[in-house]
Amino acid sequence: MPEKSFDAIVVGAGPGGSTAAMYLGNAGYNVLLLDKAVFPRDKTCGDAIGAKSQAVIRELGFLNEIESIPHAKVYGVLFSAPNQKSVTIRFPGTDPEKGKGGYCIRREVFDNFVFSHAKKNKNVTAIESFQVTDIASENGFVVGVKGMDVKTKQAAEFRAKIVVGADGASSIVATKLGLNPVIPEHDCLALRAYYQDIGGLTPNIEIHFVDSLLPGYFWIFPLENGLANVGVGMITKDIKEHNIKLQEEMFKVIENHPMFKERFKNAKRVTDVKGWRLPFGSHHRKAHGNGWVLIGDAASLIDPFSGEGISNSMYSGKLAAEQIIEIMNAKQPLSEEALAPYEDKLWKTLGNELSTSYKLQRIGRIKFLLNLVVSRASKSKKMQEMISGMLGNEEVKKELTGPLFYLKLLFA
Ligand SMILES: Cc1cc2nc3c(=O)[nH]c(=O)nc-3n(C[C@H](O)[C@H](O)[C@H](O)COP(=O)(O)OP(=O)(O)OC[C@H]3O[C@@H](n4cnc5c(N)ncnc54)[C@H](O)[C@@H]3O)c2cc1C
Repeated sequence: MPEKSFDAIVVGAGPGGSTAAMYLGNAGYNVLLLDKAVFPRDKTCGDAIGAKSQAVIRELGFLNEIESIPHAKVYGVLFSAPNQKSVTIRFPGTDPEKGKGGYCIRREVFDNFVFSHAKKNKNVTAIESFQVTDIASENGFVVGVKGMDVKTKQAAEFRAKIVVGADGASSIVATKLGLNPVIPEHDCLALRAYYQDIGGLTPNIEIHFVDSLLPGYFWIFPLENGLANVGVGMITKDIKEHNIKLQEEMFKVIENHPMFKERFKNAKRVTDVKGWRLPFGSHHRKAHGNGWVLIGDAASLIDPFSGEGISNSMYSGKLAAEQIIEIMNAKQPLSEEALAPYEDKLWKTLGNELSTSYKLQRIGRIKFLLNLVVSRASKSKKMQEMISGMLGNEEVKKELTGPLFYLKLLFA
């Protein structure tokens, strides 16, 4: 085992944790990055990598390498409504002719890409196959973590000035701090499987508001070499209240729905169906305290409309690291008070977006409105461009959640 005392311990080496470790390491601080898995490892996900992730990777200096890992380029999102009408909305800022687009990358590949850069950082000590089982506290401060090697079961304890909880939806750090309850209204369950050779794939992600899955949705996201990520997601409260068997519903859509049965006729499922939780950012979880911060899923930051969480995990990792660096540079203690600006900045930048998405999620429950928007937009290029522009601007996007937008559509 390496030396046992560090400036910072990051629990979880997913995109959020690896990002935080790199920023801290780049600032010259001594970081221990722990993960219970051995990379490359899979993570149940839709594999769509949002724009904010690209911005963080660019700032960290390795965006140019992303083209060399297996990926699919995507330029927009195809929405379909319960009435089976569909419309494709271009992602703002993309340009297919110049190859400027978003990415779908299997998490086994993407997370290993990000982690391997963190591991290369000379100030980061990465230990895989180490499961954190508890936090260590003294005088009201978190001072380290306890855990064990997954294979040998050998116990170890590490100490640091700060512990960053980046350990995902079932975060042990958040749980030990009493902060990780499942709030069914703000939590989603989603399933995913990989399929080969689905018909009609395009360089767009597909989100289908299928009747039988409302208020959830069914997705098909293209990957490299004819592979696709297929899944369903639904809010935990709805699953419980309506006793939904999510996997059964997913297979019914694939096998029987008129929009999909032909497309899946020659497709082959090449993996098991796997499920995982999405803690939504429609609930504000406390994310800092004496000697600790939470980032990514551990801080419940997933977009409650799109289900996108990779970007927010990386962005929160960057913000948390920047605040920690500022405090350490000033040689001040990493107290709750000193760390508060991290959570303030986080919610100042993401809060609006998350609250708009929560409103959109609730509007998405109204079948009539879904049918109306998609039908009208499918007929009007101008409206498609307008919605694309709205998606790229948080202030304007808010209009999508107001009654005026839908009234205008109704009478358009
Ligand atoms: C089915 C599904 C589809 C999704 N689709 C998308 C999508 O298309 N796009 C998108 O942006 N987001 C999507 N998300 C959300 C996204 O997967 C998460 O928001 C993202 O992975 C969060 O990153 P993270 O670094 O916070 O946590 P994670 O990626 O979960 O990483 C946490 C890490 O911590 C480690 N760990 C956990 N516990 C311990 C422990 N006790 N000790 C040591 N290590 C530990 C884990 O091994 C893991 O490596 C989806 C989620 C699901 C479930």
